[in-house]
Amino acid sequence: MAKFKLLFFFILLFAGCINLSAQIDTIQDKPYVVMLSMDGFRWDYPEKANTPNLDSIEKIGVRADACIPCFPTKTFPNHYSIATGLYPDNHGIIFNQFFASDLSKKYTVSNRVSVRDSSFYFGEPIWVTAEKQGVKSASYFWVGSEAAHKNIFPTYNYAYDGSVSFEKRVEDVINLLKLPEKERPQLIMWYIQEPDGIGHNAGPNGQETLNMITYLDSLVGIFNKKINELPFHKNINVIITSDHGMGEINKEKTLYLDKIIDTSWIQYIDGANPVYSIEAKDEFYDTLYKKLTHTDQIKAWKKEDVPERLHFGKNQRVKDFIVVADSSWSLLISSDKSAYSGGAHGYDNRNKDMHAIFYAYGPAFKRNHKHKAINNIDIYPLICKILEIKPAKVDGKIEKTSHMVK
Ligand code: AMP
Ligand code: ZN
Ligand code: ZN
Repeated sequence: MAKFKLLFFFILLFAGCINLSAQIDTIQDKPYVVMLSMDGFRWDYPEKANTPNLDSIEKIGVRADACIPCFPTKTFPNHYSIATGLYPDNHGIIFNQFFASDLSKKYTVSNRVSVRDSSFYFGEPIWVTAEKQGVKSASYFWVGSEAAHKNIFPTYNYAYDGSVSFEKRVEDVINLLKLPEKERPQLIMWYIQEPDGIGHNAGPNGQETLNMITYLDSLVGIFNKKINELPFHKNINVIITSDHGMGEINKEKTLYLDKIIDTSWIQYIDGANPVYSIEAKDEFYDTLYKKLTHTDQIKAWKKEDVPERLHFGKNQRVKDFIVVADSSWSLLISSDKSAYSGGAHGYDNRNKDMHAIFYAYGPAFKRNHKHKAINNIDIYPLICKILEIKPAKVDGKIEKTSHMVK
């Protein structure tokens, strides 16, 4: 009898071990994606400044020649394109500030009420795709996550507060990854508002900008080290990218709209240096178009004539005309408005200075792999693939990044 009891005990123990090891296996196999955007981190900043930590990712992972932003190359349209895999025309955040004629409401990044108003946002951000499929997510200041989408928020969500130190953000992100496995987000999107701010002031070649690049690189180094110290670090995929680059400007190359046209012809204007969308008063539609298209150093199109490659103008929020200054030129509404002194973005996305960085490492990615430039809308399908979730229908294409993954 005692023998049988002992045998029974061993059988139970064996079964328990199998079960436990199966559980450990699924835990260990769970993929993670942690994506950082550093605002305005131009594709070639690592060639201009000392960036040993980003450079080391080239060896252990992937570096794409660039991450090409959508037009207009501004912060909100592009962070939301990364999140949704959609062109701004299709996700609705067409500028950092715009009047939505479909809602008769104005969207402004500095107005929390509008930023949290879900009626402005179309498409499905990746944290919603994940949450809907039982994958926990976190957004630490990512554009668009303060608004509910289909009544869904990331499980962990931080309302934007630019005053939180970058070191604290690193710590908080790592703490999210230290949560017990059941509570831990598998997708984390986090954001740092530099080097955009300094790039606007000091320009993309300014010493202060280059110092900021090196400081941000050291932050990446601290982050990578902390990721490596996590017991499940072998399951974590890290992506480091940005919304756009930065072009050098100077005061001498500045145009003023009120010197080109009579601003009383304008019904409404969206945008900021160097790109605008203008609604003409009906009787001045032709005059306005003629003036805008006959001015050097700017390009102007009727919304229906915007080149196809820019994928912009079909959304009803886009006004009659799109106007954008040529590279290195500033376009201000009036001479009362002051421009940034050193750098600007918003230009045509064919301008290489508008391109951003893209680095990635982790189990899903090839090692020591140089990849050609990708479009930022291709990041959404890439993350879906890594997290093994079904993507929504988007503009981005999984084939565009298939060579960087194993
Ligand atoms: P811009 O250079 O005008 O395209 O926008 C960059 C600025 O957007 C940064 O300096 C941030 O302060 C701001 N920003 C970024 N994300 C958010 C957010 N989620 N809510 C409010 N402001 C933000
Ligand atoms: Zn930006
Ligand atoms: Zn900016």
